[in-house]
Formats: sequence, C-alpha cells, structure tokens
Amino acid sequence: MSEGIVTASYVGATILFILALGGLSNQETARRGNLYGIIGMTVALIATIAGVTGNIEILVGGLILGGAIGLILAKRVQMTEMPELVAMLHSLVGLAAVLVGFANFMDPGRLSHYSGVELTIHDVETYLGILIGAVTLSGSVIAFGKLSGKISGNPMLLPARHFLNLILLLISIWLCKEFVVQSAAGGGTAPLLIMTGIALLFGIHMVMAIGGADMPVVVSMLNSYSGWAASATGFMLSNDLLIVTGALVGSSGAILSYIMCRAMNRKFLSVIAGGFGTTSGGGSASVEEQGEVIALQAPEVAALLTESKEVMIIPGYGMAVAQAQHIVNEITKALRAKKINVRFGIHPVAGRMPGHMNVLLAEAKVPYDIVYEMDEINDDFPDIDVSIVIGANDIVNPSAQTDPDSPIAGMPVMEPWLGGTTIVLKRGMATGYAGVQNPLFFKENTRMLFGDAKKSLDEVFKNI
Ligand code: NDP
Repeated sequence: MSEGIVTASYVGATILFILALGGLSNQETARRGNLYGIIGMTVALIATIAGVTGNIEILVGGLILGGAIGLILAKRVQMTEMPELVAMLHSLVGLAAVLVGFANFMDPGRLSHYSGVELTIHDVETYLGILIGAVTLSGSVIAFGKLSGKISGNPMLLPARHFLNLILLLISIWLCKEFVVQSAAGGGTAPLLIMTGIALLFGIHMVMAIGGADMPVVVSMLNSYSGWAASATGFMLSNDLLIVTGALVGSSGAILSYIMCRAMNRKFLSVIAGGFGTTSGGGSASVEEQGEVIALQAPEVAALLTESKEVMIIPGYGMAVAQAQHIVNEITKALRAKKINVRFGIHPVAGRMPGHMNVLLAEAKVPYDIVYEMDEINDDFPDIDVSIVIGANDIVNPSAQTDPDSPIAGMPVMEPWLGGTTIVLKRGMATGYAGVQNPLFFKENTRMLFGDAKKSLDEVFKNI
C-alpha cells in the first residue's frame, strides 16, 4: 500500500474515532458510535499491517494470539465482571507502552538514526512512555484487585504519603536527566530500570490510597492514563494515528473523571492525591444495625406497585449481579399498561463502572425516555408513591448527607425516603461497596423484599 493511501486511511480512522466518541455520548446514538469505532479500528489495523515491510510473520502471530485472547475474554466475561475486565485491559495498554519503550531503547539503530537534540527528544519520549505505561500497568492491576474484591476497597493511607509521592516525582525527574545524558554516551539502562521500578511502585501506592466512594474516578482516570500511554507509544514509533487515538482516549477519560468528580462532589486533585476526606477506618463503626426492618412478600409488593400512580425504579449493582434487567423491563411494561407512570433514576456511580446501569437497561430494551439521571429526578421524590430500589445500597444511603465521618460523606445520593413507600430488594443485610450501614433500611416508610433480585421480581411480576 502506498504511503499516501496509508495516510488517508489514518485520517479516515481518526475521523471515525471522533464520530465514535460523539455517538457514545448519548444512549440513542451509542450503537452507531460503537459501529464507527469498530470500522475505524478495522481501517487502522489494515492500514498499519499493509504499511509493514519486514517480520510480517511476527505481526500475524501477535494478531492471532491477541485476537484469540480478546475473543475468549469477551465471550466468557459476565456483565458484572466488566469493570474488572476494563481495568485489566488498561493494564495491558500500560504493559505495551513499557515494552515498546524498552524495545525502542534497545534498538541498535537508535544512535545512528538520531543525534543531538533529536536524540534527546526521542529519549525523553521513551522515558515518558515507559513512566506513564508503568504507572498505568501497576495502578490498573491494583484497581482490578479492588474491583474484584481480592484487595480491600478501603483506602490504604501511608503516613506522609504526599511527601513520599513528591520524593518519588523528584527522583524520577533527576533520573530522566541522568538517562538522557547516559544514553547519548551509549548507556542509560540503569536509570531507565530504576525509574520503571519507581513508576510501578507509584502506581500501586496511588490506587491503594483511593477507596470507597472515590473508586469510580480511579477507573476513568486509569482509562485516561492508558490513552496517554498509547499516545506516548505513538511518539516513540512515529505513528500519527496512535498519537491522535491515544490523545482522544486520554482527554475523554480525563473529562469523564472530571464529570464523575463533579457528580460526586469530590475535588479531582484530592481524589488523585488519594484519601483526602476519607477516614482510614472505612467507616466500620457504622456497620451496626440501627433498628428493626419491615419485610414484605412479593404479592404485597405487587399490590403496592399496582395501587400507585408514580413509580420510581432505582437500580444498583445488585441488579447487575442478579441479571434482573429483563424482568425489570417486563414489570415496567406491565405497570405502564395499567397507566402507571414508571421512571428510572440512575445515580452516576451506580454499579461498578460509569454507565453500568444504562448499559444493562439498554440491553433489556427499557425505553430511553423514561431513564433519568439523578440530577434530573431527585427533586421529584416527594411526588413518588413507590420507589423500588433494586440491589442498590450506597447510592441511596442518607448517611452521605448526615454523617460527616462516613466514607461516602458528601456524595450526592438519590432520596427515595422523601416519597411515599420505598421497597428495597436485596438478599440480606449486607453492606454495599463502601462497607457502611444504610439507615434507609430502618426508616418508617421503607419495606424490604429479601432474596435474589431476579427471583423476587419474577414473583412480583406473576402477582402483577
Ligand atoms: P452497592 O455496592 O452499594 O450495593 C449493592 C447491593 O446489592 C448490596 O448491598 C447487595 O446486598 C445487593 N445485591 C448483591 N447481589 C444481589 C442480588 N443477586 N440480588 C439482590 N441484591 C443483591 O451498589 P450501588 O450500585 O448502590 O453503589 C455503587 C458503589 O460502587 C458505590 O459505593 C460506588 O462508589 C462504587 N463503585 C462504583 C463504580 C462505578 O464506576 N460506578 C466503580 C467502583 C466502585 P446483599 O448482599 O444483602 O444482597
């Protein structure tokens, strides 16, 4: 393929990626956005492969291996494991950036290709690529551990941690200078290896220090880092498409992190610095039960729903675990057929990844126009007859407003207790992700329907 066609394909792929991001910003256009992304990536892959002249068998081998792993993972992964999978994929982007960086550094032709200022620029690109890649790699592995419950979700706060981070940063800057000087003289391996170790430690420390209600921001932040790592790789390989694509992922991830912080009433810098405003105890003092709960059976819940005029459904992580979205849609259709106004209220951090609930509801074909963001709907609760909370916990916890020591203090929450009756579906009295007790369950106008959300809703549906 001629260089002109490769360049044109790269421009085309870039435009498709921008269209993909635009499409993904809205539920109605998300499918189309996804399609643009798939076509863009296919064009990019074909153009890149066609531009390669030597070692084609290694490339094809890598493609088959990577493609097979991707296919198997995509087929096997449960919807509830999506956030962990995303964290794992981010770590692979980080690993790729580190490996490409070292391969670039070890390339025997490097010193004959570049000299003087060009060599310095190339070396700084390599250094930054490995640095960002290593932080992304270890940070994502820890995020994977936290999301899958293999590592405690509480923030780990070392004494003088900000001072420690500052020292690591200063050492990294000094090592960069050392690397550039030694590399020009044919060396540089030692500073590069030491920096990689430091960056890996920094990634672990950064994510370990973030916990509780700040975790959602970590996922989008690592997404952003993986983009910058890819962009740095693009600089190292002089590949324009990789630079642009990485920058798109990096900046959109950063914007998403900012939006999530704003939705959760957190300061972006405080979250990244880790643990500001959170207590190291993880709020364990407030796990005790705070009174009696009133449990109902499915027929009573069905009666409450059919007797109401305004129903609000608040889904949470438990809906994803139970895979209850389809029966939720069936119940919604049945209630709407009885002229009951059913709406969904979606909290920005419901579930375990941004947009988690929207994806599940879209999969079950719940109409988009009855699905509202928390901000659009929170003032309507006084007019709601019945709110039904499906496997949600932290996002409907009033202690975020009343207990300044809670790990979720200050996080905006949905306020079903201001309406008529709240029905909470969950299996037992276990806490949610943040590990804190929820006073909502003990309120006068709250009723519990215990059991797996899907089984409970199947029963409710039969009774409707
Ligand atoms: P929570 O984790 O607070 O609560 C989920 C509840 O679902 C649990 O209390 C559990 O109770 C119940 N549950 C689990 N399985 C089932 C089942 N099969 N049937 C019925 N109920 C079930 O979820 P929320 O969505 O309310 O809040 C999200 C939390 O996750 C927030 O703390 C947020 O900060 C955090 N987070 C969010 C991310 C994001 O990007 N959205 C990323 C990382 C963390 P029981 O065991 O008793 O059934």
